[in-house]
Amino acid sequence: MYAIYRSEGIEVAIPFECRMCGKCCEKLSQCVYDPSKGKIIAEADLGLFEYVELNDVELKSPILIKPCPFLKDNRCAIHEIRPKSCREFPLTERGDMGVGCEGYREIRAKAKAVEKALGKLEFAGRLD
Ligand code: SF4
Ligand code: SF4
Repeated sequence: MYAIYRSEGIEVAIPFECRMCGKCCEKLSQCVYDPSKGKIIAEADLGLFEYVELNDVELKSPILIKPCPFLKDNRCAIHEIRPKSCREFPLTERGDMGVGCEGYREIRAKAKAVEKALGKLEFAGRLD
């Protein structure tokens, strides 16, 4: 995966390396318990996925569940069908949202080094 930055017609692709630390899944779970369905749901590429049912939970409004219940031994137990926001993290306009993602920190450091030669870079998306 690459973070794409642009500066006056020049495009820079900086590779992103996930350290598999699990910090994003601990701090920014994407999984919401929806009481109307009695299930954990999450947005995925193909729409809303319904994951597991929680028994004996009495809630009237959706709640975000943190850490993500699918994080097992620092690995995503639903990796192949993980939510869209998990696939994109941290390569969006919002960056790592304060999670302290080491891979993102490295990308920002490289972008700053490039900015010294090219001037201000604007985030322009990601490339898988
Ligand atoms: S915080 Fe960053 S490095 Fe750690 S698992 Fe998440 S994306 Fe990977
Ligand atoms: S669904 Fe997987 S990738 Fe997404 S927050 Fe949960 S454990 Fe992390």
